[in-house]
Amino acid sequence: MAHKVAVLPGDGIGPEVTREAVRVLKATGVPIEFEEALVGGCAYDQTGHPLPQATLDLCKSADAVLLGAVGGPKWDRLEPVALRPEVGALLPLRRELGLYANVRPAKTLAPLAKASPLKGKRALLDLVVVRELTGGIYFGSPRERRANGTLAVDTCLYHVYEVERIAEVAFAVAKTRRCEVVSVDKANVLETSRLWRETVDRMTPAHPELRIAHMLVDNCAMQLVRDPRQFDVILTENMFGDILSDEASMLTGSLGLLPSASLGEPRQGRPFGLYEPIHGSAPDIAGQDRANPIAAVLSAAMMLRHTFAESEAAERIERAVERALADGLRTADLAGRDSIGTAAMGEAILARL
Ligand code: NAD
Repeated sequence: MAHKVAVLPGDGIGPEVTREAVRVLKATGVPIEFEEALVGGCAYDQTGHPLPQATLDLCKSADAVLLGAVGGPKWDRLEPVALRPEVGALLPLRRELGLYANVRPAKTLAPLAKASPLKGKRALLDLVVVRELTGGIYFGSPRERRANGTLAVDTCLYHVYEVERIAEVAFAVAKTRRCEVVSVDKANVLETSRLWRETVDRMTPAHPELRIAHMLVDNCAMQLVRDPRQFDVILTENMFGDILSDEASMLTGSLGLLPSASLGEPRQGRPFGLYEPIHGSAPDIAGQDRANPIAAVLSAAMMLRHTFAESEAAERIERAVERALADGLRTADLAGRDSIGTAAMGEAILARL
């Protein structure tokens, strides 16, 4: 039976890059049925809400979701704030779909090593940040509190089950790679970090094939710049992961290349996930055939690997992308002159698939 994928192209360059990702998915021969729905500013314009019920229902009935990007200047000042695309669509989508694990690989593609801010071999990183996505200080209770004009409170909460389930995701990812996990916390200061560390320690004996170590977040931020090649899988909580995953992705040199997965509880025995490029809707280049579709295409490869256990098809896509780059093909974000457009880059990847 065909897998069912909900496609949410969204705003700005979202539809342009998603179109290429869907074309590449179709070309792998993996049986997938695609169904599109509105999300973000375009959904607000057409239905009055950035996350229409029909879109949520489609996502809930699908095996996986492929998202482009949402937002843009047209909707940035909408009132109430809950109608703005990121607040009104992305956060509720994560919450409603129970997407507690954000998996962000940061790998330098060899033909683009010079784009990294790091010099020489240090630029050749290949790591994955596994970030807890629905707990911690971003979801604490009370979520925001202003007692008066001179005091504000945010609360950081973690339950053991939340640490256990995200650690299991990190361990599973590490087992497909170099079997090394660094769990990042601030256990010298924070009680939630001490609970985090104790929980990871308690789980460690059940995974003898893994090397599991701990690192304080400030040290990790520094080590990422000093030598990111020491990391295989970084496991961390919501806010630390937000910051470290952005830091790690910039070390690879480009925003238009990096995919991500947000995973929830398995459905029918398969990991359910929402897959999206890490970049936004890039309103400055939307509709001009200038967006780099590679992050969206690699997000589709992650979907094949994580949700559909189609590792071979995922690798074929990744190799096709590397070959297109090795052959010198570049979109405008990577090459000023002699660049090719979004659709032509999609074609080039298809041709090498
Ligand atoms: P952005 O990622 O959209 O763009 C930042 C810069 O990178 C821009 O110059 C853009 O042209 C360039 N860029 C991004 N993706 C590219 C690609 N694939 N190819 C070539 N160049 C690319 O970030 P921003 O400008 O801060 O945000 C724009 C809008 O996107 C805002 O409304 C923001 O809220 C939204 N946003 C959405 C998401 C999401 O949907 N997950 C994430 C981040 C930002």
